[in-house]
Amino acid sequence: MIRIAIVEGDGIGHEVIPVAQKVLELLHPEYEYFPVEVGYHRWEMTGCPCADRDIADLKSADAILFGAVTTPPMKDYQSVVLRIRKVLDLFANLRPVKGIGFDIMIVRENTEGLYSGIEEISADRATTLRVVTREGTERIIRSAIQLAKQRSGKLTIGHKANVLKSDVLFRDICLAEAKDAGVSYNDKFIDALALDILQHPASYDVVVTTNIFGDILSDTTSYLVGGLGLIPSANIGDRYALFEPVHGSAPDIAGRNIANPIAALRSAGMLLAYCGDSPGSNRIESAIQDVLAIGIKTRDLGGSTGTQEFGEAVLSMLRRKEVHNR
Ligand code: NAD
Repeated sequence: MIRIAIVEGDGIGHEVIPVAQKVLELLHPEYEYFPVEVGYHRWEMTGCPCADRDIADLKSADAILFGAVTTPPMKDYQSVVLRIRKVLDLFANLRPVKGIGFDIMIVRENTEGLYSGIEEISADRATTLRVVTREGTERIIRSAIQLAKQRSGKLTIGHKANVLKSDVLFRDICLAEAKDAGVSYNDKFIDALALDILQHPASYDVVVTTNIFGDILSDTTSYLVGGLGLIPSANIGDRYALFEPVHGSAPDIAGRNIANPIAALRSAGMLLAYCGDSPGSNRIESAIQDVLAIGIKTRDLGGSTGTQEFGEAVLSMLRRKEVHNR
């Protein structure tokens, strides 16, 4: 039996993940769903944001649906989501940004770079080590090449090799692998790429880059489709997989039933595809499109529908289509 760990996390995670879970339960009542509680609230209650036993629970699942966690900018607090990505070795973070006339897949290296966690802070100086390894780069560029081959065969490598030695290594390894792989490829400085992708999104397909650049680029690119409430992601390793919206816990809107659950629903769709049900994933996307087409939208998209009500509309659409298809 397929077992899905459900992590709501903090903030709007408690609102958008239940919507996505209900859709999964409708499509796959035979799966087992079990909650894992981690995050900042858990730290406030117990002093521990994520215990080893929680990691073991996550590892016991076939896939993880994750909301978002709050990471307070405190020097002694370790980001829970970074820890999970690292210990589960979820090295490829896939962030699709799809709109009219463009279909971009940002492939972000997810375990090293500036988020390697090798840091020091004193009263007058702080350092964060940016680690790029051959092994880490080879596995992310190979994932990106594989994706490019499944899609249009076009790959862009984003880096800052003009300034950072670590990105000289990243760029050179990526270029060498791409040259041997028979895909069409180019490379760009990440700052120029960030503007060009907004101006000419149709010129991009798969974009591979290092950890922090991928993080920033996907938030920036979300502008093309209406914001963070729409973009899902997959965190994939050799053994484990975690699916989460690109957005965070959004404390500014949490608890008000106004968050857009589409990113969480699409993340559930990516989870289904990973679990072998691509048609189920397509059904979720087409139900979202149908609901939007009849003008049911959350506030960020100019509508007034609540988070839960949007979820109910998607569920009704899925049920209606099921009856229609029988
Ligand atoms: P955020 O993504 O939470 O919010 C940025 C802006 O986008 C906010 O104005 C928010 O209201 C809006 N927004 C986000 N999701 C939305 C949705 N579904 N519908 C409508 N509007 C939405 O980023 P932030 O404010 O920089 O960070 C808040 C907290 O989340 C921080 O503690 C941060 O560390 C954490 N965070 C966690 C993750 C994660 O768990 N993977 C990712 C990013 C940020």
